[in-house]
Amino acid sequence: MRIDVLTVLPGLFDCFLREGVIGKALERGLVSVNVYNIRDFTTDKHRVVDDVPYGGGPGMVLKPEPIFRAYEKLSKEGPKPFVILTEPWGEKFNQEMALEFSKLPRLLIICGRYEGVDERVKKLVDREVSIGDYVLTGGELPAMVIMDAVIRLTPGVLGNRESLEADSFMDRGLMGYPNYTRPAEFKGMRVPEVLLSGHHAKIERWRKKESLRKTLKRAPELIEKLKREGKLTEEELKLLKEIEQEENIGNG
Ligand code: SAH
Repeated sequence: MRIDVLTVLPGLFDCFLREGVIGKALERGLVSVNVYNIRDFTTDKHRVVDDVPYGGGPGMVLKPEPIFRAYEKLSKEGPKPFVILTEPWGEKFNQEMALEFSKLPRLLIICGRYEGVDERVKKLVDREVSIGDYVLTGGELPAMVIMDAVIRLTPGVLGNRESLEADSFMDRGLMGYPNYTRPAEFKGMRVPEVLLSGHHAKIERWRKKESLRKTLKRAPELIEKLKREGKLTEEELKLLKEIEQEENIGNG
């Protein structure tokens, strides 16, 4: 997979692309990420990327020409890229979208800045994506959020495939189970006994139950939906009953 990014602040991506799981994935050539400075696609002497908004008002707007020029040049290199524009009021980014993007051969992410991009840039865009209901100073952090989630899903990036399946949202949207590591007791808090037992079936059952418990607490509507659609197994329904009983006792 190849990901191209268009930004006016390419330096922001340096650590992100160098460190950790993402850094390793790039080093191993599992994905390639190219960050392009929109300024390099200007043709005027002062390399201007922004201008005042028509109609007046505060702030600056990213000009369309350099972005179009970058798109036209880059899209000639290999398969046509799927173009994402970071937008505070775009479609809300989620795991399902990350999974969909991770299957594409090529992405191009356009990072807005200032008051955003000239509306005509949207002619190039396949999907406008928001990472949440708040306004940031630019699309660079959203681009990193999107890339992080997408690259993580690329085959081979995580050493152990299983760690993907155990992730929150990957199994019908259910949340992940709680994790513990050594020491078995810390400041008087003990790791649940079953995890120390080495009994795999029991551990599996406990994990499934805790994942259902967390989901029931934080997203009860999802559990209702899975029930209605018949997407819960007999065992899971039984676990849910147990949880409901336990929680009622706990509350009473
Ligand atoms: N004037 C705009 C805000 C621009 S913020 C408004 O009123 O909504 C500048 C740029 O940052 C945006 O063009 C977008 O590319 C990016 N951005 C800000 N918040 C974002 C978010 N929550 N998700 C995705 N991109 C965001």
